[in-house]
Amino acid sequence: MAQAQVIKMYNGFYYLQTGREGDELLSCRLRGRIKRHKGAVVPGDYVEYELLEDGTGVIESCLPRKSLLLRPAVANIDQVIVTFAARQPDLNELLLNRFLVLAEWSGIPEIVICINKCDLLPEAAQESFLQAYRDAGYRLLLVSAHEKQGIDGLRAQLSGKVTVFAGPSGVGKSSLLNAIDERLQLATGKISDKIKRGKHTTRAACLLPLAGGGTVVDTPGFSAAELEQLDKGKLAWYFPEFRQYIEKCYYNTCTHSHEPDCAVKEAVEAGGICRERYEAYLNILQAINERKKAY
Ligand code: GDP
Ligand code: ZN
Repeated sequence: MAQAQVIKMYNGFYYLQTGREGDELLSCRLRGRIKRHKGAVVPGDYVEYELLEDGTGVIESCLPRKSLLLRPAVANIDQVIVTFAARQPDLNELLLNRFLVLAEWSGIPEIVICINKCDLLPEAAQESFLQAYRDAGYRLLLVSAHEKQGIDGLRAQLSGKVTVFAGPSGVGKSSLLNAIDERLQLATGKISDKIKRGKHTTRAACLLPLAGGGTVVDTPGFSAAELEQLDKGKLAWYFPEFRQYIEKCYYNTCTHSHEPDCAVKEAVEAGGICRERYEAYLNILQAINERKKAY
């Protein structure tokens, strides 16, 4: 049976990228027996399908997923590009850390940081910009959609993968996608228009195939508000550079905040962990604690 990826979902139809002539999508219905499970098939899924005589298709089954992002549901995402602006708005490191923790939590295998609007950042500042995050092991891409700086590198990073761009609005995610593939022509700038659109329609996510190879998901990823649902015992694990210290703490339930003989705190003092990252950790920990108290 033929296999293909679900690119979008609309009004009960599933649209498959089958690689047929003209890049045309194949519209499909679900076979009755898989219809009963809500969310049985979502964008990003690979499915088995059969072609019907009228030129449409029927999805017979869904292949196992590598990952699943909820709200909106998208399967098989390979990478998340956490996108912020260097300026306008000024980079909010706490928010950046929140997005990184969400990305780590989601289980999506590859996480990259992309800083847009580098045309607004003095060149001398670029070399060491966000060094703590590079030290933590994140690949950092400094780009400018307007100046077309770093766009080839970003395009290469997307090639052959399903990617979601996560980050606050106004940092230039749509502008970057337009710079990568000018056929996309996503609306940019007028934030009020975008918010309006978002309010009146709750549509499913959609995958956009890129000219340079790879696919992007047309949603902002996840919202930083979801963070309070996270299990605080796991929080430190989502700071990759903390991992080597966690098991050396005296208490195996150590939250790395007030406990004595904490290897994480010692690493902060000794310079092995960047203080800003540790403070972001404490801040998120507190947000989770306060959430728990509210119940
Ligand atoms: P999104 O909400 O993240 O999709 O952001 P948009 O792509 O809509 O861009 C928000 C604003 O930032 C728009 O006014 C863009 O013109 C501006 N912008 C986008 N990229 C750049 C850039 O590389 N440099 C500068 N200076 N402004 C940019
Ligand atoms: Zn500790």
